[in-house]
Amino acid sequence: MEVFSYSRLSKYESCPAAFYRHYCLHAEGVPSEASVTGKAAHAVIEAAMKLGCKEEMFFRVMSEIALATSPLEIKPEQVFILTYRNPVLREFHPDNRVEEHFVVPLDDEDPFAPKVQGYIDLWRDGSHIELIDWKTNYKAYKPTDTHQLGLYAWYLSRRTGRAVRGKLVFLRLNEVLEHEFSYRDMENAREWAYTLAREIQDKLCMVNEGADHRQLFPTKVGDACRECEYAVECIDGNLPPVPGEVKTYQEAEALGAEILRLDAALGQMKDVLKAYVSVCGPVVVGGRQFALVPSVYWKWSPGSLEAAFEKIKQEGKNPFEFLSLSAKQIEKLGWSEDALHELGAAKRKSVSFRDIAAN
Ligand code: SF4
Repeated sequence: MEVFSYSRLSKYESCPAAFYRHYCLHAEGVPSEASVTGKAAHAVIEAAMKLGCKEEMFFRVMSEIALATSPLEIKPEQVFILTYRNPVLREFHPDNRVEEHFVVPLDDEDPFAPKVQGYIDLWRDGSHIELIDWKTNYKAYKPTDTHQLGLYAWYLSRRTGRAVRGKLVFLRLNEVLEHEFSYRDMENAREWAYTLAREIQDKLCMVNEGADHRQLFPTKVGDACRECEYAVECIDGNLPPVPGEVKTYQEAEALGAEILRLDAALGQMKDVLKAYVSVCGPVVVGGRQFALVPSVYWKWSPGSLEAAFEKIKQEGKNPFEFLSLSAKQIEKLGWSEDALHELGAAKRKSVSFRDIAAN
């Protein structure tokens, strides 16, 4: 492997096994909703910026096109809402360079230096270089919290000799976090990439010479597992040596047995961790933490429900759009299906996947 990217390197850093499976074994994984939505949102913004088209209808149509071949069922409206918003619309500019690809060696002094490539969402030249990256994360983070923008800033500064100001635009949150990259920030990012790329190259040489890839690229259980495309195969934090899929009934049965075991184990593991947290406080795992989080709910007496009904009416809204009868409440009333039909209720069926007692 000669050419690396920020996503390759950060995947290796977060879990070497997932990196090896994805980039070396080219194993198909289960895509996450977050990654599919993110790619679609980037495609819509790219098309709009390249064509200079700010029309609402264009964003709507492009959101549908971007999801036309999606492996997951995601509503185009979700992508439209993410992309047709002010932090995107105000970045339209005639000097924009959109989705520009670059490949550069990570060290000019080293003739065998690994290379880094990237697609820069947006950049433009002005009194300084403006560098923009769209994010669909649920939580914002600073441009210096990862090395992605630092690496792109290093490339742009090397190419233009200008100061670089980077912006992360968090589409879901309408939040923009900016940073003016110093020489040290950019060098830190380059050194991070160079060191990891060299480490990966050395390990891949050893694998070529016969070393076990599972020892050199071990699993790293943690925060990254939540979005990992291989989580389904990663039983007990270990991946089988060759990626596979369920092909026979026996394999499906073994998978079902493992699900029952994991379900039971998960409940017990949560109980153990909860006991620890309740005595010692929160436990942080990467960007997540296990903590006792208070939850609030409202208990409605018949009188307070009646008052709420009247208040909704006074506000000119239809109370029945907010209040409904649950399946449990209908059971308490003891009404038959015929009675429910007579009242005009429509029966809806859905199918859920779960384990039930076998016959
Ligand atoms: S589930 Fe976690 S440990 Fe397993 S491959 Fe994915 S990131 Fe690595």
